[in-house]
Amino acid sequence: MMQAEDIEFATEWSERALQLMASNGVPPAPDNYSIWFRYASGRLPELNQEIDGRLARALPIDIDTTMSLQKKYFAEDKLTDVTLNTGTKLNTEVHQILKIIEESVGNSTALGTTVREASEGLTSQSSVSDVRYAVEAIVNASRSMEQRSAELEEHLRATKKELNELQENLEKARSEARTDGLTGLNNRKAFDEALTRELENAVQTGEPLCLAIGDIDHFKKFNDTFGHRTGDQVLRLVASCLKSRVHNGHIAARYGGEEFAVIMPATDVAAAETIATRVRETVQARELVKRSTGESLGRVTMSLGIAQFQHGDTAASIVERADACLYEAKRNGRNRVIVESRSEEMLQANAD
Ligand code: GH3
Ligand code: MG
Ligand code: MG
Repeated sequence: MMQAEDIEFATEWSERALQLMASNGVPPAPDNYSIWFRYASGRLPELNQEIDGRLARALPIDIDTTMSLQKKYFAEDKLTDVTLNTGTKLNTEVHQILKIIEESVGNSTALGTTVREASEGLTSQSSVSDVRYAVEAIVNASRSMEQRSAELEEHLRATKKELNELQENLEKARSEARTDGLTGLNNRKAFDEALTRELENAVQTGEPLCLAIGDIDHFKKFNDTFGHRTGDQVLRLVASCLKSRVHNGHIAARYGGEEFAVIMPATDVAAAETIATRVRETVQARELVKRSTGESLGRVTMSLGIAQFQHGDTAASIVERADACLYEAKRNGRNRVIVESRSEEMLQANAD
């Protein structure tokens, strides 16, 4: 239920959303409205940043942009839709199955009754025709049951197929809700879940774990020079460099706009540094060429920071340290990997 205060806010946001849409020439369609309503609410800073970025560059918020914003920011809503839809369908299927079972039980009861009645009607004095009549009744009843069984079996087979399709759809939606639409990497939600899970795992197994966070250098300048669409191509390219370099069991994600992260379970700092350096070198080595014109766009570079799991770490604390290292990498000239240095006391504590 909405509180009175929420209603007041919602009314204000709604009015503001309509004004913004009008002033930016956005048609007042429901999909557009949901984006602009959330923009007006300011509750999703990343969404506002992205829209502001487009407006600042005088880029249109057209239907394609709206669709991609929907996908990026409200994937969870979509999953809820699919889940509800699947729930309803599942309910129908379960009802069908129950009906089939009821019918099938009814049929076998009918056969049982026919057999009982026929046998009750037979005595030692029964004539051949009485017996023939009884046998015929039983044969007919079992034939009709056989036919009905075949129909029921066919029905069950169709239901099973339908259930398999529902399950596949649900799995697909689940995976989409955890995938970044632009790069195909894990999205932030999947990253957050994986980091919490992998930290717990590291506590249990006692194995080391490293987290690398990388950020493209001077990407704003690249976007400003070559345009947002070309910038998007670069994000895809960096993602493919990441995918080609991370190991099995590592989790690569798009952490934010032009920031990426890799969770590296069972990996010590030295190995993590090697992997991060390979990612950095792979990105740097790729010459960017504009597909449409063949024009060379130069190269991009990437800075990375690495933190290693420490006793008592939370997802937030390890991210913060990896981020601090990334910041150091930027401060020290970019296009480099900085690994957190463990303090003397920590080394001492480990030695004890
Ligand atoms: P630094 O080396 O310090 O990281 O500089 P920077 O310019 O990369 O950093 P800054 O944070 O100033 O700018 C990040 C830019 O990334 C701003 C925005 O235009 C761009 N960006 C963020 N998300 C996207 C996206 O989805 N697509 C494109 N094309 N650009 C994006
Ligand atoms: Mg950044
Ligand atoms: Mg950057």
